[in-house]
Amino acid sequence: MSLLVVGSVAFDAIETPFGKTDKIIGGAATYISLSSSYFNKKVNLVAVVGGDFPKTDIEMLQKHGVNTEGLQIKENEKSFFWSGKYHNDMNSRDTLITELNVLGSFDPIIPESYQNCDYLMLGNLAPSVQRTVIERMKKRPKLIVMDTMNFWMDIAWDDLMKTISMVDVLSINDEEARLLSKEYSLVKAAKKIMAMGPKILIIKKGEHGALLFNQKQVFFAPALPLEEVFDPTGAGDTFAGGFIGYIAKTGDISFQNMKRAIIYGSAMASFCVEKFGTERIMNLSEKELDERVQDFVDLVQFEVNI
Ligand code: AMP
Repeated sequence: MSLLVVGSVAFDAIETPFGKTDKIIGGAATYISLSSSYFNKKVNLVAVVGGDFPKTDIEMLQKHGVNTEGLQIKENEKSFFWSGKYHNDMNSRDTLITELNVLGSFDPIIPESYQNCDYLMLGNLAPSVQRTVIERMKKRPKLIVMDTMNFWMDIAWDDLMKTISMVDVLSINDEEARLLSKEYSLVKAAKKIMAMGPKILIIKKGEHGALLFNQKQVFFAPALPLEEVFDPTGAGDTFAGGFIGYIAKTGDISFQNMKRAIIYGSAMASFCVEKFGTERIMNLSEKELDERVQDFVDLVQFEVNI
C-alpha cells in the first residue's frame, strides 16, 4: 500500500556524553523514510533542501526505495539545520540551534503520482505546512499520522490546534503531551488530546516505552533495555516510520494491528539509538529486525494463573 512521508530533511549537529558530530544528515522525514523503507518497497517523500545538501545523501535515500520526485532542491538556499545537546541521562536534551532556512518558506507540492497514497505520515514541520499537505491531497488517505514537537507549541499554537483536529493519529512524547493538555497525568492528558480531534494517541516515553490510546483502550509497548545508547536523535521519527511502515505494509488500521505496529516502531527506534544519526538504520538486515522484534515479544511475555 502506498505511503507518503512529509517532514524535514536536514543537517544535524549532535552532542551526547559519548561524542560530537559535525553536520550530518538528519531531519524527521529522513528518519521516517529510512525506517518505513524496511516495510515498503517504495516510500514517497515530500520535503525541501538547499543547494548545499549532498547528492550522495539523496542517492542514499533513493537506494532505500525512497521516491524523491517530491524533494524540492532550492539551489541558492541553505538546508534546515538543527543542533542539540543531550544531558547525561540521555533522555532530555537542549536544542542549541534551529535554523529554518529553506523550511521557512516551504510550499509542499504533492506530485500527481503521489495523489493516491493510502497512508500519510506528517513528520515534524510547521503545522500550517502539515495542514497544507492534507488539503492538497485530492483523496483523503485511509490514515493520517502526525508528529509534532514543543517548538511548534511555543510559536504556532493556533495553527497546531487546527492541524491536530484533522488527523487520525497523533504521536508525541510525554513532555509534549503534558504541555499540550496542561495535565500531568498521561491518562487525563490522553483524554484531553483525543478530544482535540485524533482518534488515536501515541505517547512516547523514551527509554520507558510508548503508550497507545484510543477512547476505550490503552496498550503499552516497552523499550528494549539496551547495553549501549549512543544517540537518541531521530528515535521518535524512526519509531513513527516503523509504525506507519508496518501499517502501510499490512493495510490494516485496526487497534489490534496498531499494537503490533508500535512494537515494530519500538524495534526500529531501538536500532536508531545504538549509533550516531542515521548510521544504524541505514544498514539493517531483515534477520536483525526479526530477531529484535522477537526480543520484544520475549521481554513482555509471561504466564500466570489467577
Ligand atoms: P527526534 O529526535 O525524533 O525528536 O527528531 C530529531 C530530528 O528532528 C532531527 O533530525 C532534526 O533535524 C529534526 N527537527 C528538529 N527540530 C525541528 C523542527 N522545528 N522542524 C522540523 N524538524 C525538526
